[in-house]
Amino acid sequence: MTKALYCIACGTIRTFRRNGGLTACECGAIKGWWVDGARGIAQLYVNHLDDRQYGRVIGLHNGFLRGAAAGTAGQTDDGNRVLHDLATDAPNYLFDKSRRSCWAVVIAPGESNDTSWATDEQFLAKQQEATGGLVG
Ligand SMILES: [Zn+2]
Repeated sequence: MTKALYCIACGTIRTFRRNGGLTACECGAIKGWWVDGARGIAQLYVNHLDDRQYGRVIGLHNGFLRGAAAGTAGQTDDGNRVLHDLATDAPNYLFDKSRRSCWAVVIAPGESNDTSWATDEQFLAKQQEATGGLVG
């Protein structure tokens, strides 16, 4: 699943950085990163707990994305419907017909087992990682 940070307050949608580094929305309220990109585990962080109401993760089905972006299936309405059918046949995932039945899902951190809100300690550790070590 491709994931992206979504800030409801400013409308920013931003994919997480492939190197695991921090990214943030344009208003700065929501920050996020891959904890484990290969396993699709992501965290969001806010400086002020009230801002959690603005933070979401958007999950996009990789098979649909790739199919719609390349090849003949993505170039026709019929092809897109076939891709959508395949993407929503995903037992145990939010994409599945029995759940959201969509190739794109909007998730509040913690709503899925691969998204969560980071603690202050986790955010500070991520910041220190970005600056190359302990500060001070
Ligand atoms: Zn924002």
